[in-house]
Amino acid sequence: MATKLIPFNKPYLHGRELAYIAQAALAGKVAGDGLFSKKCHSFFERHFGFKRALLTTSCTDALEMSALLLNIREGDEVIVPSFTFVSSANAFVLRGAKLVFADSAIDNPNIDFQLIESLITPRTKAIVVVHYAGVACDMDGIMDVASRHNIAVVEDAAQAIDSYYKGRPLGGIGVLGAFSFHETKNIIAGEGGLLSINDERYIARAEIIREKGTNRSAFFRGEVDKYGWVEVGSSFLPSDIVAAYLFAQLENLDAIQVRRKTIWSRYWKNLKDVLPEMGIGMPNIPEWATNNAHMFYLVCNDLRQRTDLIATLKSAGVMAVFHYLSLHNSPYFKERHDGRPLPNSDRFSDCLVRLPLYFDLSDDDVDYICQIIIDHCKNKKCGA
Ligand SMILES: *Cc1c(COP(=O)(O)O)cnc(C)c1O
Repeated sequence: MATKLIPFNKPYLHGRELAYIAQAALAGKVAGDGLFSKKCHSFFERHFGFKRALLTTSCTDALEMSALLLNIREGDEVIVPSFTFVSSANAFVLRGAKLVFADSAIDNPNIDFQLIESLITPRTKAIVVVHYAGVACDMDGIMDVASRHNIAVVEDAAQAIDSYYKGRPLGGIGVLGAFSFHETKNIIAGEGGLLSINDERYIARAEIIREKGTNRSAFFRGEVDKYGWVEVGSSFLPSDIVAAYLFAQLENLDAIQVRRKTIWSRYWKNLKDVLPEMGIGMPNIPEWATNNAHMFYLVCNDLRQRTDLIATLKSAGVMAVFHYLSLHNSPYFKERHDGRPLPNSDRFSDCLVRLPLYFDLSDDDVDYICQIIIDHCKNKKCGA
């Protein structure tokens, strides 16, 4: 029987969350775009330089807003990596787009940018890139292909807060970016998200789409004297209670990141001399990318080895988990896929395992987890 129990993830309070929620509740305005929402918007605009930042109820919603903003319609094609969360793709299917799935790179779960050009047709309207584990995709290459073909790039930056590509914040490079504050991300609000807008031309419409298709935001700023239905939209804004939780975390972004990076580095130090020797892969951070310590993962040699490792960890009380099942093989999409093999995506689906990483995880727990992994691999003679 395991005496320890280390969950995969644990949501946490950094300090002022409950005080700010109380303040929001007592302020007399808990609907969207109250005091704390505004504080969060200006935090993102100042700290990361986004032209406009708009809180949403989830990253999924920010992606759905992106599809509306880009006027994606029936018959348009959207290039998306197969190794990603459902929402990166589903948001565009909702608008009738045809998905064209791209493979991952060989040494990194991110989209293989060299493949993108061969997937472009005259109907391609958007390229969605996902910065997996908060590690930047090769954005110069991607932006270059996209601009030569006049195609919009949307960054799914759900995992990528406070991470950079050659010094530029992720979510600030494509025309639009989508962040998540789901309880499993670095900065949390329970459920929550953000749309970052990097081209002024989208700002006015984004405000309208987010407010049920009305020009309510302009009305509250006194720019129009009545508001009404001017566009197709939905309700994408969170209550100020969510923003209050979020703002308490944003204020402590640096401290949270320092702790996460310490945990990440401890995993790395403990495992780096043992696992590669056994053929087990560790995260690969290209020289253009920063590491925001969103995730620590390993890449096993095959599905069986991964299943064994997860089972050993589980019997020692450690919850390690695999990640995405390639979307081109999903029950919904399998019959719709054009049949191109996407071997790297499938390999990450079969072989990648994520280790616990959350703010309250102790150094001792990290050492304990690493020892179990090392013992397991030595006993099983991984790679031998
Ligand atoms: C978490 C995640 C999402 C979804 O975020 P929600 O806020 O839960 O909608 C989308 N894409 C990626 C890559 C994610 O990791």
